[in-house]
Amino acid sequence: MRTPFIAGNWKMNLNHNVAIKFIEDISYKFENKNNIKIAVCPSFTSLRSVILVLEDESAKNANIKIKVGAQNMYFEESGAYTGEVSPEMLKTLGVEYVIIGHSERRELFGEIDESVNKKLKAAFNHDLKPILCVGETLKVREEGNAIDYILMQIRKDLKDISGIEISGLTIAYEPIWAIGTGKNATPQDANEMCKAIRGEISKLYSAEIAENLIIQYGGSVKSSNAKELMAMPDIDGALVGGASIKADDFLAIINY
Ligand code: PEP
Repeated sequence: MRTPFIAGNWKMNLNHNVAIKFIEDISYKFENKNNIKIAVCPSFTSLRSVILVLEDESAKNANIKIKVGAQNMYFEESGAYTGEVSPEMLKTLGVEYVIIGHSERRELFGEIDESVNKKLKAAFNHDLKPILCVGETLKVREEGNAIDYILMQIRKDLKDISGIEISGLTIAYEPIWAIGTGKNATPQDANEMCKAIRGEISKLYSAEIAENLIIQYGGSVKSSNAKELMAMPDIDGALVGGASIKADDFLAIINY
């Protein structure tokens, strides 16, 4: 039985002052009717503030179980890598999750499958739980090659990573043409892809590992479409961008 997992990707929004107010607001209004796993992924500069607020709020109300993730990290331990943040730095802050290979990193900042693979290995080495993002462009989908493309990404990204390591992994299927566009994949198309990903994990690892793997859908998830997406058998949650920085929308998605 897989526990659904909804994560909010705040992207480059909410400076730490705004993030503190925002996460306090979420905590005051927080109800988790579906009893699911929840995480928020602020910018690096807001991580510590958000973690401290959540520590405080959950001490007052044990129902507030919101985990914190980073949006990226580098794969090296330390050294001359100006501007980068190491897995150990995140772990020491109290971060639990880390988004790896988001399409905005791939498209705008030159992230490639080889570096995604190194980052995944580094995350597992530091006991961080990666949310691996995969997704195809509109061109790839229109050419009818979406499934092959995504499965190839999965094979490259998970190269030489063991079944034991991937027990902490979440995969987010995020078609690039649906991110921030207001245009979501149909629940059927999204489910078809999530099912294909599960099938590939079963081939690469085992049926049991595939069965337990959390696969999220991401791409213009809103309170109005969360329920039908989440009802699909192979979709186990959502990675939410735009709607995750609007408190009422994010709470409505959690309570889909
Ligand atoms: C994302 O950033 O991962 C995302 C899915 O964004 P949005 O929900 O805004 O499409």
